[in-house]
Amino acid sequence: MSSQNWPQADRHVSFRPMGLEGILKFGDTGQDPKTALAGIAERLTRWFDRKARDLPWRKTQDPYAVWISEVMLQQTQVQTVIPYWGRWMDHLPGIRELAEAPPELVLKLWEGLGYYSRARNLQRAARQILEEHNGVFPDDPATILSLPGIGRYTAGAIASIALDQPEPILDGNVIRVLTRFFALEGDPKARPLNHRLWELAAALVQAAHSAERLGDRRCARVNQSLMELGATVCTPGAQPACGVCPLADACEARRRGQVERFPELPPRVPITARFFATGIIEHQGRYLLRLRENTEVNRGFWEFPNWETGSSDSPEAVLSEQLGIPPNHWSSLPDLRHHITRYRMTQRVRCACFLPSPDWTQGTWLWATATELESLAMTSAHRKLTLSLTGAFEKSRQLS
Ligand code: SF4
Repeated sequence: MSSQNWPQADRHVSFRPMGLEGILKFGDTGQDPKTALAGIAERLTRWFDRKARDLPWRKTQDPYAVWISEVMLQQTQVQTVIPYWGRWMDHLPGIRELAEAPPELVLKLWEGLGYYSRARNLQRAARQILEEHNGVFPDDPATILSLPGIGRYTAGAIASIALDQPEPILDGNVIRVLTRFFALEGDPKARPLNHRLWELAAALVQAAHSAERLGDRRCARVNQSLMELGATVCTPGAQPACGVCPLADACEARRRGQVERFPELPPRVPITARFFATGIIEHQGRYLLRLRENTEVNRGFWEFPNWETGSSDSPEAVLSEQLGIPPNHWSSLPDLRHHITRYRMTQRVRCACFLPSPDWTQGTWLWATATELESLAMTSAHRKLTLSLTGAFEKSRQLS
């Protein structure tokens, strides 16, 4: 890249409050915003070509595979997603397989990722693609955006990464890079800054698109480079790796020594503690489970019977009242603690060997062996309980 296209180290990029033309001003270089953005896009894509991590979904341009990876990556970190994505693609390699899969299989493949409505929406969208588009993933961004569960970020990611279209993306990583690079003040998730960040992201990918030569997939590369930079270099906290950042010599937050100030996220919502009494009931090698119903969060998942309690309630008393098991039949397992969004959950776990009630043999109740448990869809917390319960009951049997 010629030095003409890039602000000098002592000439910074500044933010102005009016419209895209006013957003960018490259110090006293006299550069117009489009030229400057083209320079940024060029640096980013070159850096991405050298430094991009080798991830399995980057080996494909199949919109279906990219879509699945993007939705999974909204749930958790890359290293966790790799085996999930591989398993999913083995079982459900395309739109038709997903659309026609039993819903229990879809939930089972998603088990442990949380936000299970996302897995259901994937299947709803696949059915819509099968019915309305003959099973071919649409290539029009507006149509992609109209599919169930696909928001602006996911639509932009599929359109740019898989289809190399000049569609913007804006996730937490991109927000961090852009707000730091331009030292953008304000809450990036609220207007007016959020709107301007989308404008900037759109202008960047458009700049890449303008410089595109046949087959060099610049839209795909520039968007991925922004995400990759945020994930691996411009990381959260006070010490991103500015020393290896391809944008370092023009980064305004760095120039000001205010890297940790951006993005200016609002204070986190306070954590709320929640308590549950969870009963693991065993009878002749089978464990009692309950299916979460349609009106409940995580519907369609199996779990050990549990009820939310106050912090000082006796779990034995709650379980005995709900299940009709005498209070002196319960023994304790260690508490299980886990977080879901702003909730810190504590499952106070009690187990009992007990004759089944007739009510527990039908409808939403199920007696499952330890082997059968493995094939059922369960939320992460209850899956963890299955790992500890066999040993617990074996111990109690050996003692008796
Ligand atoms: S120089 Fe540092 S703060 Fe600025 S974009 Fe690069 S990593 Fe982020």
